[in-house]
Amino acid sequence: MKPPRFEYIRLESLEEALAILAEHGDEAKPLAGGQSLVPMLNMRLASPGVLVDLNRIAGLDGIGEANGSVRAGALVRQSAFERSEVVRRRLPLAAECLPHVGHFVTRNRGTVGGSIAHADAKAELPLVLLALGGSAVVRSVRGERTIPAEELFITHYTTALEPDELLVETVWPDRGPGAAFEEFALRAGDYALAMAACVLRVEGNRVADARLAVAGPLERPSIVEAAGLLAGNELTRELALEVAEQARAQAEPIDSLHASAAYQRHLVGLLVERAVLRAWRNATA
Ligand code: FAD
Repeated sequence: MKPPRFEYIRLESLEEALAILAEHGDEAKPLAGGQSLVPMLNMRLASPGVLVDLNRIAGLDGIGEANGSVRAGALVRQSAFERSEVVRRRLPLAAECLPHVGHFVTRNRGTVGGSIAHADAKAELPLVLLALGGSAVVRSVRGERTIPAEELFITHYTTALEPDELLVETVWPDRGPGAAFEEFALRAGDYALAMAACVLRVEGNRVADARLAVAGPLERPSIVEAAGLLAGNELTRELALEVAEQARAQAEPIDSLHASAAYQRHLVGLLVERAVLRAWRNATA
């Protein structure tokens, strides 16, 4: 398959990109690593009139630390995020999930911002951003705003970004070592059938606070409210199973080509149980 006709514009400045997006609205599409957009163009699943190549815009590929968070520019390549010492030290959840994001070759081109903006319901990075309580900084000619992850992901491939907005940075809170990411995919590098991400903080021998999110058999990555059962308690296998049971009940999978709804629901519960128990072990190690 070949892409539909489009005008290709390669820019050197963010201001130019924002002006083009303001002029063309949803007729224009930003191009980052192209690891999702180009296949979609070739399969005619996307047919923008204007492709705005971001790759030469300076200043969007930095990784920094500020106010207890790690900040990643939109064009940070997934492989750079994976190799980053800052990520390994402060974001164990992201460090655990990144090897599951496609293949190392796709991670060399694919960007952190692109994965978040693409908002594939089976993508690892959106799930981790949500589990950490992160956010996205977006800009347009009208100004800049920060969208919390809870408000960012709407449904499959749909975020709260306006057509003329560009994601310029993502903010990943450092929630300490008590983290665990679990995924089940049919083959390495495949999109996951189900994923779970848990971060928890322990004081004494009790959970002080916990965040838990799941993705895969859902229309978007979703917070598991049952994580609230963990707070104030010492973790036991029974408590982890109770949280897993409630997460299973919250999931609303549909039969897919790869797995029945029942099997996906089973996976959610299993991965939640594993993530909660392992996050506890990591927090108390
Ligand atoms: P692009 O493909 O360039 O763009 C993706 C979308 O985001 C487009 O709609 C584009 O307009 C928009 N966009 C990009 N940057 C911005 C921005 N700064 N602001 C606003 N909108 C923007 N991903 C996974 O998570 N898990 C997997 O297991 C996985 N497996 C893969 C296997 C293969 C073989 C391939 C080719 C890809 C796979 N991917 C997987 C997708 C890959 O991770 C992509 O890199 C990612 O989804 C999109 O990042 P990108 O930089 O390539 O974005």
